[in-house]
Amino acid sequence: MAKVLIIGAGGVGNVVARKCAQVSEVFSEIILASRTQFKCDRVAAAIDKPITTAQVDADDVGQMVALINKHNPDLVLNVALPYQDLPIMDACLETGVDYLDTANYEPIDEAKFEYRWQWDYRDSFEDAGIMALLGSGFDPGVTNVFCAYAQKHYFDEIHHIDIVDCNAGDHGHPFATNFNPEINIREITQKGKYWQDGQWIEIDPMSVSMDIDFPEVGIRKGYLLYHEEEESLVQNITGLKRIRFWMTFGAAYINHLQVLQNVGMTRIDPVEFEGKQIVPLQFLKAVLPDPGSLGTNYTGKTCIGCIFNGVKDGQQKNMMIYNVCDHAEAFKETGAQAVSYTTGVPAMIGAKMMLTGQWKKPGVWNMEQFDPDPFMQALNQHGLGWKILEGKTLKQ
Ligand code: NDP
Repeated sequence: MAKVLIIGAGGVGNVVARKCAQVSEVFSEIILASRTQFKCDRVAAAIDKPITTAQVDADDVGQMVALINKHNPDLVLNVALPYQDLPIMDACLETGVDYLDTANYEPIDEAKFEYRWQWDYRDSFEDAGIMALLGSGFDPGVTNVFCAYAQKHYFDEIHHIDIVDCNAGDHGHPFATNFNPEINIREITQKGKYWQDGQWIEIDPMSVSMDIDFPEVGIRKGYLLYHEEEESLVQNITGLKRIRFWMTFGAAYINHLQVLQNVGMTRIDPVEFEGKQIVPLQFLKAVLPDPGSLGTNYTGKTCIGCIFNGVKDGQQKNMMIYNVCDHAEAFKETGAQAVSYTTGVPAMIGAKMMLTGQWKKPGVWNMEQFDPDPFMQALNQHGLGWKILEGKTLKQ
């Protein structure tokens, strides 16, 4: 029986609140706080368990500390934006409360994400006797757990990992992003990179692509991007020689993105407009569809997983672990499309692991550093069943 404070009432926050409410034997009290109070109230009104709501600017450590002191939660579950990670971690330190998020910190004025800023809290969290679990979404999150599971049960050494992320759904809009547009576009328009033989190899944005055959979805073009879970996995997976991350995009999405880039709408530096400073990408976010509203009439599926190559008992081995999630089914259950769903469910499961003591250790941790078995079991139990495809390689 525990009290959870959820920060952020967007697409993912809605799913987290609903999923926590379904598991009332663990989450006996839920507080949902965000920058805009009515969004919290809207989520709470759609859930048949009582949820307390609150307004907070999570960039302000003082406001976060006051909120935590008022409600005295056992865990702060951060599904606001990556910019808020550090102020929320500071507030957790000040109040001695555990922390969980789904995306690593990014400075607002530079599209650069790395764990360094949050790993710097390792000693202070350990000294305070509190825990932070980083990246408990799908990717990062479930993909890290898939890697830990493959390492524990299927390989002596994993040599190559390709994380493959496909959204084969159709939301009916000419252009929309499936999670926060600002974060999504910053991720895609920065340089890509992958890790091979001990070093990072940088590539121009979206310059490397490949047709990938996704189980239950079919062939889609995947683009090589940098993704944050690669940074921790290179440290925690035995014998790794290469790790890459691929995400699929349709031709219409790429065309829209190119035009938006060409006209300067994806810039993150402020420009002067009618006497005011505005950031073009933040303005673009304001006119694009809200990811949380995309679920209605969304058809098709997501397929996200990891393709492994390595050695077991002296033999070469290939396999894939993946999940397929149906947009319409996710919407029916939570009023959200599959991208919010596949992020919100693992966030709830990560919190459940911590609150039930199955994953509990003072310090700052990434997902693959814990026993994957109870998490894998919980995925099956809470709506994200997974499968294993033996012999699967990236090329076939
Ligand atoms: P949304 O933009 O839909 O929601 C973000 C929410 O955070 C909004 O309710 C917003 O409030 C709130 N917020 C923003 N700034 C503050 C602040 N300063 N104080 C309090 N609340 C604030 O995003 P998503 O729900 O799509 O994404 C949420 C998080 O999940 C992001 O960090 C994203 O990167 C991560 N994510 C992780 C994935 C994974 O697999 N690991 C996949 C997809 C997303 P307001 O409405 O007022 O703006």
